[in-house]
Amino acid sequence: PFGSLPELIERQAAHRPGHTALVLEDQRLDYAALCAGMHRVARSLQRDGLKPGDVVAICAGTSVEYVLAYLGALRAGVAVAPLAPSATAAHLSAMLDNCGAHLVLRDREVATQWPLHAGTALRCVALDDANEAGEPWSQWLAAGDAAPAPIAPAPDWPFNVIYSSGTTGVPKGIVQSWAMRWAHVRRAVVNGYGPDAVSLCATPLYSNTTLVAALPTLALGGTLVLMRKFDAARYLALAQQHGATHTMLVPVQYQRLMACPAFDGTDLSRLQHKFCTSAPFSAVLKAEVLRRWPGRLIEYYGMTEGGVRCELHCHDHPTKLHTVGRPGEGADIRFIDEQGRELPAGEQGEIVGRSAGMMSGYYRLEGKTREAEWFDAEGRRYIRSGDVGRLDADGFIVLGDRKKDMIITGGFNVYPSDIEGVLCQHPEVAECAVVGVPSEQWGETPVAYVVARPGMQPAVEELREWLNARVGKTQRVADLRLAERLPRSEIGKVLKRELREQYLQATP
Ligand code: ATP
Ligand code: MG
Repeated sequence: PFGSLPELIERQAAHRPGHTALVLEDQRLDYAALCAGMHRVARSLQRDGLKPGDVVAICAGTSVEYVLAYLGALRAGVAVAPLAPSATAAHLSAMLDNCGAHLVLRDREVATQWPLHAGTALRCVALDDANEAGEPWSQWLAAGDAAPAPIAPAPDWPFNVIYSSGTTGVPKGIVQSWAMRWAHVRRAVVNGYGPDAVSLCATPLYSNTTLVAALPTLALGGTLVLMRKFDAARYLALAQQHGATHTMLVPVQYQRLMACPAFDGTDLSRLQHKFCTSAPFSAVLKAEVLRRWPGRLIEYYGMTEGGVRCELHCHDHPTKLHTVGRPGEGADIRFIDEQGRELPAGEQGEIVGRSAGMMSGYYRLEGKTREAEWFDAEGRRYIRSGDVGRLDADGFIVLGDRKKDMIITGGFNVYPSDIEGVLCQHPEVAECAVVGVPSEQWGETPVAYVVARPGMQPAVEELREWLNARVGKTQRVADLRLAERLPRSEIGKVLKRELREQYLQATP
């Protein structure tokens, strides 16, 4: 069966109007207020003539208004394009042109970084009422309590035009259907989300990682606790204060939380459902979470495009922490070689996948869509991940690197993650990343960046020798450097293209 998220929220408002829906700093909204806000936004959009199938872009920091705008658009059947405020002005303009938004909701900070060209007829609304960002929100919202005109969403309606993270280049627009979002709600039921869930989300709202947790929390009548910006000590205080039961974090956040002095003194006993996705989550770190933070720990491996979907229930499979688990329900995963031929089980190659609700294509980018497709012998369509991996004997997927990060040295393929896996076992290493840099002798050669554990100062040359004694000949790193931190995207992905540039700039 298929249901709609706004309808579920309306039901919650009818049955438990006073139950807390949303908490952000000192703001608190119950389901009655959430639903009323959602309706006001939907009516304002309908008054402005927006119809199902139209697109509204939201580009702003995390706020209560952001959540209301999102839900209101859905209630009007309008697709949301959540744009990352941290993107460059050039990327923002490209995303805005690509999604063809009829209206932009933004805040002051975004407006100053990203002035829309004068003369664009595009209508802007300022979520924070700042005049320079557009028509003030409080003025734009239609008054009164009437319900918006009903809509009847079909499973294939566009829910989001959402952008890939832009880790490897310009973000690509992806249409996610109502059916795909509905699948997330159903999965959330299995994962214990419901009216008693208190779900703490500390990643930015525009990110798919956040939406996967935040939208089902509200649809199922739980309490969503948001943070404007992640801070480990603040997170721990919020988790304890609100008795959080569910959380979605990226790997580097797990690491920062467990490194925080307050961690051991915080009561996290209610926080039994922990999720992780977006970036490599080392076996060492997963084991530390299982040891120091009991409860369920589920890792998802997937992509905004859909298609590829795997999950690892770490608490049930402590011997499989070096994998990303098995294909999720209804997902079909294959491995292909450079020529696009399917590989026999167990051989390493590019991961391709197909699953319910996967994208039909990149939005208005036919060439990119064709590059991302793979068809099996029966003509079934799969999405290419750009990631390398293989299946182990028990059907778990061992994930390698992104194809774009693979290093070819003296004709050999070297996978940075193999080297990183060894390096992060060193007791003085907190984080590390290996990238390929040009080499006259080898074409390319691996170099390592290391962030030391707090209070430690590893001797660089000794550490390099320690590592090189433990890896294969072609995997030996030519250089190892200490860094204060690794360049990361806002949701914690290491930006390897920036590291390569950084290395080249620092090396004469
Ligand atoms: P772009 O496609 O724009 O370069 P992106 O691939 O980072 O950016 P997303 O769709 O947000 O955009 O991320 C999907 C990618 O993130 C996957 O292809 C994979 O490389 C990585 N990823 C996701 N989950 C995991 C995980 N559990 N472990 C390791 N890597 C992961
Ligand atoms: Mg990608």
